[in-house]
Amino acid sequence: MTAAIRYAQLVWQVIRSNFLRLGFPYKLTFMITGKCNHRCVSCHIWKTPRTDLALAEIQAFLAKSNNFSWIDLTGGEIFMRPDLPDIFAAVIRYCPRLVLLHFPTNGFLVDNIIRITRDVAARGRPPRLVVTVSIDGPPAVHDALRGVAGAFDRAVETYARLREIRNCEPHVGMTLSAFNAGCYADTLSSLSSLLPGFGPRNLHVNIAHRSPHYYRNDDAPRPDLLALAREIAEVRQARRRSLAPLDVVERRYLSLASRYLETGISPLPCTALSSSCFVSSEGTVFPCISHDAPLGSLREARFNLARIWARPAARRLREAIAAGTCPGCWTPCEAMPSMGGSLLRSGLWHTPKTQSHPLETKGGSAPRNDVPGHEPPRRRSGPP
Ligand code: SF4
Ligand code: SF4
Repeated sequence: MTAAIRYAQLVWQVIRSNFLRLGFPYKLTFMITGKCNHRCVSCHIWKTPRTDLALAEIQAFLAKSNNFSWIDLTGGEIFMRPDLPDIFAAVIRYCPRLVLLHFPTNGFLVDNIIRITRDVAARGRPPRLVVTVSIDGPPAVHDALRGVAGAFDRAVETYARLREIRNCEPHVGMTLSAFNAGCYADTLSSLSSLLPGFGPRNLHVNIAHRSPHYYRNDDAPRPDLLALAREIAEVRQARRRSLAPLDVVERRYLSLASRYLETGISPLPCTALSSSCFVSSEGTVFPCISHDAPLGSLREARFNLARIWARPAARRLREAIAAGTCPGCWTPCEAMPSMGGSLLRSGLWHTPKTQSHPLETKGGSAPRNDVPGHEPPRRRSGPP
């Protein structure tokens, strides 16, 4: 299938998601391992023993459930799996519609990451291969948050070498939390001094969330929301000039993140369990990484996602999410499909403006939200 047809199918699915609940998700977030070689303070994945799906089970799943246009492979650290090249091969072999394959990495296993990514990129399929190297602060902050000495240096080396791979789009991803609020400028400056041409457009920022079933970090400390909001405003300001489509989308994501921080309510109707879903490393299907509402096991459904998707319980949960009955969040995994599913409401067409965050004009009153340490809301706002 040509790249043009794949893109057309993705665009069609995004348009359809504005008007109806989809019969199969076009986006999959797939946790392929719970193993990790970092010891992050904000995440308990590395502490939690899990039985990952075996390669044969992953192959069976992708062979039967393959109408995805966009797949995020996540962990843990996906490069901890020795059979990762076979998993990539299965994704490419079985998913004919795939447009975008994305994965995050902590960048620690440098040579391994470069070798395997180069092999995937050399296939030229899917049309877009995007890699996010996670860096959460300048060197000392990053290493402390990650619990591993030298983590920053290795992540930077990985990113620098990924930039040299043809057909690969590497980004740096920074997650703002109680542990690194106020570090955006220092992080940007550290990376800019080490990487020629590195600028605000290369540093992608999101906000930390709690997840009982994924990060298992319900005990994460309460962040200073005003500091987070200021930081988001700073990021938007730094990225304000570009009119490249990806930058417009990202600026809008950040703008809506500000609204989420202010209200604690998902700023757009969520399309989880319509446009997207999450599959854990044990093969359990969830609407997303945040909502602890397991729908069933792929193992019990003979690795056929459509069977779980069509169950009455899934239909009920889909309607509940559409009605706003869920913890609420603004994670990029689901925020991007939700923006695609609310094209008229998303504000993507608005001329970008930079303004101070409402929290600053409201004296920093503490809103409710699901960033770590906050009670999640149980309803969602109406359209903006
Ligand atoms: S945040 Fe990522 S790198 Fe850190 S422990 Fe969790 S899975 Fe590992
Ligand atoms: S808004 Fe609710 S259902 Fe949607 S991604 Fe967030 S927690 Fe999950």
